[in-house]
Amino acid sequence: MENVIIIGTGAAGLTAAIYCARANLTPLVIDGMEPGGQLTTTTEVENFPGFEHGIMGPELMATMRKQAERFGTRFQFGSVASCSLDGEVKTLTLDSGESLETKTVIICTGASAKYLGLPSEQALIGFGVTACATCDGAFYRDVPVAVVGGGDTAMEEATFLTRFASKVYLIHRRKEFRASPVMVDRMMANEKIEVIYDTVVEEVIGVEDKSVKGLKLKNLLTEEQSELPVDGFFLAIGHQPNTSPFVGQLDMDETGYLLTDSTKTNISGVYAAGDVQDSVYRQAITAAGTGCMAALEAERFLESQEHQG
Ligand code: NDP
Repeated sequence: MENVIIIGTGAAGLTAAIYCARANLTPLVIDGMEPGGQLTTTTEVENFPGFEHGIMGPELMATMRKQAERFGTRFQFGSVASCSLDGEVKTLTLDSGESLETKTVIICTGASAKYLGLPSEQALIGFGVTACATCDGAFYRDVPVAVVGGGDTAMEEATFLTRFASKVYLIHRRKEFRASPVMVDRMMANEKIEVIYDTVVEEVIGVEDKSVKGLKLKNLLTEEQSELPVDGFFLAIGHQPNTSPFVGQLDMDETGYLLTDSTKTNISGVYAAGDVQDSVYRQAITAAGTGCMAALEAERFLESQEHQG
């Protein structure tokens, strides 16, 4: 029986692992579908404290992983397919069919940005296609970029990007915005932003050059096709928390984010950290912070169980 199983190896999971390992809990970490998490799909990270000149996302995650290993963290390849979290012994079943038993669980399965699903878009992720303006906006100084989406994230990201880009095109598939009026007004008041309504992106141009050169667009009302030269393409069509194995057991909001009190879920001994329980901040540093909090909570819980036993 494990003391603690951490699910996920993004910034939250690896930070939880470092803290649990240093507390001699010999944590077992399940890698998850995307080892290293969202930071492995970005290039340079300039806002993670401690790296004056920035660090590449994959390098940051590889370093965190080695740091966790140094203190005795064990890693197991695979994903959690289902689980039974009620009771003192929690059982996790991996996609391989293997079952694992543990006293505590820290869920750090993150959220995945939604993409359009175009082959050209997928080929250029990290090479001009990104789903995080906060992470990557500063790389697009004095060049035109495009944002797709019509919710609050799209409004916020388009407005944020005007700090760097020479021009920001906001592409939305209809005329009405889902975003709150105040966010729409702020976006509309920005002279650097041009809205392209009733339009979808059909292809990202630049696969051969391994960098975004533009977008192929289609107006849904007129069927007219056009090309838009841009250097960056920002997806802002929402995020999907990776919570499907926990449906029916853990409390979630209507979009699937785990509901937590600090990092505690509704089941004792089960904690959640990082983007899987945070639709607001979604930063590596906030994920790491909550990973630390969850580890300390798990440690305290195990200690209290020992005293009871
Ligand atoms: P939303 O789900 O609110 O909006 C997604 C947008 O993307 C919609 O406009 C939708 O279009 C569009 N979209 C979805 N799929 C596609 C597709 N395949 N092709 C083209 N367009 C697509 O997500 P957000 O990330 O914007 O917001 C999530 C939550 O976070 C919301 O509750 C929001 O209020 C909140 N938030 C709050 C902020 C704040 O208050 N500062 C900042 C950011 C987010 P359509 O409208 O046609 O469906």
